[in-house]
Amino acid sequence: MSPVPNPRDFTIRDIRATTVAVPLEAPLRHAAGAHWGRFIRTLVEVETYDGLVGLGELGGGGESAQAAVHGLKPYLVGHSPFDLEALRFKICNPTSSLYNDRTQLHAAVEFACLDLVGLRLGVPVHDLLGGRVRDHVDFASYLFFRYADPLTGQGEVRTPEQLVEHALLLKDEHGFTSHKLKGGVFEPAYEVDCYRALAAALPGDRFRYDPNCALSLAQSEQVVAGIADLDNDYLEDPTWGMNGMRALRRPGLLLATNTAVVNFEQLAANVLAPAVDVILLDTTLWGGIRPCVKAAGVCETFQLPVAVHSSGELGVQLATMLHLGAVLPGLTFSADAHYHHLVDDVIAGGKMRCSGGRIEVPRAPGLGVDLDRDKVDEYAERYRVEGGYPYDRDPGRPGWYPLVPNTVWADPEDPAGVTW
Ligand SMILES: [Mg+2]
Repeated sequence: MSPVPNPRDFTIRDIRATTVAVPLEAPLRHAAGAHWGRFIRTLVEVETYDGLVGLGELGGGGESAQAAVHGLKPYLVGHSPFDLEALRFKICNPTSSLYNDRTQLHAAVEFACLDLVGLRLGVPVHDLLGGRVRDHVDFASYLFFRYADPLTGQGEVRTPEQLVEHALLLKDEHGFTSHKLKGGVFEPAYEVDCYRALAAALPGDRFRYDPNCALSLAQSEQVVAGIADLDNDYLEDPTWGMNGMRALRRPGLLLATNTAVVNFEQLAANVLAPAVDVILLDTTLWGGIRPCVKAAGVCETFQLPVAVHSSGELGVQLATMLHLGAVLPGLTFSADAHYHHLVDDVIAGGKMRCSGGRIEVPRAPGLGVDLDRDKVDEYAERYRVEGGYPYDRDPGRPGWYPLVPNTVWADPEDPAGVTW
């Protein structure tokens, strides 16, 4: 039972959650299906008795995410945002989590508590995490195969020519010098051709390929051979699981993951019997910014490179990625962000700017971002009207669902998305 709080206390009084649907330029295709033309995100606001409000963000979920966030309120009323280790055990004690995994909910509340502490002390979140070692975080372009937007008919990326055109446009607009191709949509040989077309069109730049674990070991080997002569950052999750990745691992090939190693148990296993080289730290999947910083410390000790992963963010989550990137000494790879596919954001001042391939680390107290209430209302209404979508289904291929490894690839001759 929490003590009765004083109205002037810096303890949690309320937790609110608002699900929004923010439009993308075009639907983004991936190995399991697609982002159907919008990102569904749940914004979390944690308010203290003394009137401060900290911000968090959670992927997807809709009504169930809002209910899950609201369900934490009895656990956290009266809790001090300073008490971040206690927060971890209150929400996701490692044994009780076996029955009720709240890792991502914890992440959203942790973001908000760090925001609150920063606001309270008048310092940016990166100052709470050890202090920044850089003022900007480098980003890669995040290239997806895309369906044309069903309304405008624009934005399709299906052919090597369209992919190169989009990459050049993004490079011109944002200054990216590293480029990630999200694959696992078409058969591997076709995607290797697309990847090679990118490399040919962008000499001097670097590249990474991520088919979201859709390939068999044999197909992964074909991809390794097909791109070996290019300037690759790394090969990300070509096949499923730590044992699959270990079977591919060899000197001269860097394997990255945001699936096989996403918690401390798996990180320990990977140290004891290495399967992957580059650990992609995701502030949501790891349960917050601080778990990512802790994991980065382990990685530093064992000479495992790290990078900042994107799970599809609006500006609040992007701020968490920037504060994380700011404090990681060994950040030798650029970060990923879906952000440039969004047409808008819910933060005050509109979308953060990426120029010269980098985004400035926020300097204002807390996370350094505020909500634009009109935008939140607009996109909350849009969510109410349009609802969610099944992330692991492809709107252009009704009835199909992915196997691992996948055996039924999309047809690169078929611009199916125009018709739905
Ligand atoms: Mg990935």
